[in-house]
Amino acid sequence: MITYEGEKIEVIDAHSHMGERHKLAVHQIPKIMKFMAEDMINSMDGAGVDRVVTFAIGVGEPSDYRETNRYIAGAMKKYPDRIIGFMRLNPALGPQDTLDVLEEGVKLGLKGIKIHPLIEKVAANDRAKVYPLMEAAQHHGLTVLFHCGLGDFASPVRIAEVARDFPKLPVIMGHSGVVEGVRQAVAEAKKYENVYMDSSAVGWLPFFCESIVWAGTDRVMYGSDHPFNPMDWEVQKIIKHAQKHLKLPIEDLRKIMAGNIKRVLRIHD
Ligand SMILES: [Zn+2]
Repeated sequence: MITYEGEKIEVIDAHSHMGERHKLAVHQIPKIMKFMAEDMINSMDGAGVDRVVTFAIGVGEPSDYRETNRYIAGAMKKYPDRIIGFMRLNPALGPQDTLDVLEEGVKLGLKGIKIHPLIEKVAANDRAKVYPLMEAAQHHGLTVLFHCGLGDFASPVRIAEVARDFPKLPVIMGHSGVVEGVRQAVAEAKKYENVYMDSSAVGWLPFFCESIVWAGTDRVMYGSDHPFNPMDWEVQKIIKHAQKHLKLPIEDLRKIMAGNIKRVLRIHD
């Protein structure tokens, strides 16, 4: 919980990473090789974050993410009221093998899917490699989060096509298109009711404020991309800096900070 003008607000981080890398991405700072459940809980306690949605950290080389998906499912069992696990999938490995990883993830109790179209070098709307996974995701009632922004394969337009073609599947545009893609992400969210956006890494405050006003407070979710971005940095972006301009009612802040992801994941408490 965090406190805003004397009121307690629940915080669920809709975008975070966990697990071990095999190889560091070249030049990457911070040099994170390993970020495990206990590290996550420490960060959450430090920032007043009640729960996180978390998925595998990049491995640094092609991977099917099976190992980290299993680790995250274990972490979710160990910390059931703090950690909500998603499976990471690599569609480049082809639908047959990837569907196998997906079905295992469902059996492990993971609640959604994360796909990074740029790292895996597969377009978000690839009919042969991604659509069979979306079919299965919709069938199992999962939520899917795509990294959105920084390259054509991960463009809001491509991701929105998935939302259009799988209307019962909640589709989260991770990072809302970062900066250059934010306005397009908002335009797509207005077309398709199952499109959501997470706040992580949206680095220009005017675009971030626009995304909340134009797409609506039902569609934007607090996310940090922790451990790459500090959780409280992204909390402050909303609660302190965006709120200074938006002056949202507290109920709207509650939706952005936790309510929207709870509704999408059907968490009732
Ligand atoms: Zn991320």
